[in-house]
Amino acid sequence: MRLKDKVALVTGGGRGIGRQIALTLAQEGADIVIWDVNLQEAEKACVDIQALGRKTLSAQVDVTDYVKVEEAINKILDKFTKVDILINNAGITRDNLLLRMSQQDWDAVLGVNLKGTFNCIRAASRVMIKQRSGKIVSIASIIGIIGNPGQANYSASKAGIIALTKTAAKELASRGINVNAIAPGFIQTDMTAKLSEGVREKMLAAIPLARMGSPADVASACLFLASQEADYITGQTIVVDGGMVMV
Ligand code: NDP
Repeated sequence: MRLKDKVALVTGGGRGIGRQIALTLAQEGADIVIWDVNLQEAEKACVDIQALGRKTLSAQVDVTDYVKVEEAINKILDKFTKVDILINNAGITRDNLLLRMSQQDWDAVLGVNLKGTFNCIRAASRVMIKQRSGKIVSIASIIGIIGNPGQANYSASKAGIIALTKTAAKELASRGINVNAIAPGFIQTDMTAKLSEGVREKMLAAIPLARMGSPADVASACLFLASQEADYITGQTIVVDGGMVMV
């Protein structure tokens, strides 16, 4: 029970990696708040978490909307009085080659992935500063480190998260807040199910550990960074990719 009596907020926690992170943190004793644009999925995830004996709160929150984010943080305080852990997981893709990428697709991806992460860090860190403690973990991507054809918007947003993590870590360290990121590689979720068979085969061939990652692989790293075991780690990005990228 590494997170006993902690309150953890997971954005985009209704499905995929976020849902698994929420379950993993709950298994270690944390009460869980799930924000998602899809309230039904968030509520379903909460039912599974309650079965573990943990308290939950779900809300329909689009992380791009700062006013909504602040309101939702206040609702967490009403119910739980604190926010110990923030996991910035909500993310989208709108892939296209640079020359064909529309302004809308650029703005949408930067909006959810980067501005959404900024909004949640800003709102949650206000609470954490008063508490003089907190753990923030943002889900970036190896694509934010190495780039990828067809993902100008996504790669820029994820590189932005890595840089934002470093700045937030430096600004918040003196208040007892650790800020880190995880850069997953090729993880089996709805997001990667959209990829063609050719792309999947090519990616698999580039993974030394010779398998796609699972949401549980990402959740384990997240649990570590959210726990006391990572008290002396801040501003870092942990790569969870089966060895695809070795820097
Ligand atoms: P999914 O698409 O399966 O899940 C993303 C979740 O975020 C969904 O529940 C989605 O809601 C929610 N969401 C989308 N937009 C918003 C928003 N504006 N506000 C709040 N919630 C939102 O993605 P994954 O689980 O695969 O990915 C999770 C994170 O991991 C993302 O940041 C992704 O970029 C990152 N990642 C994933 C990798 C992979 O291989 N899968 C690799 C590297 C990084 P809805 O159900 O309504 O769409």
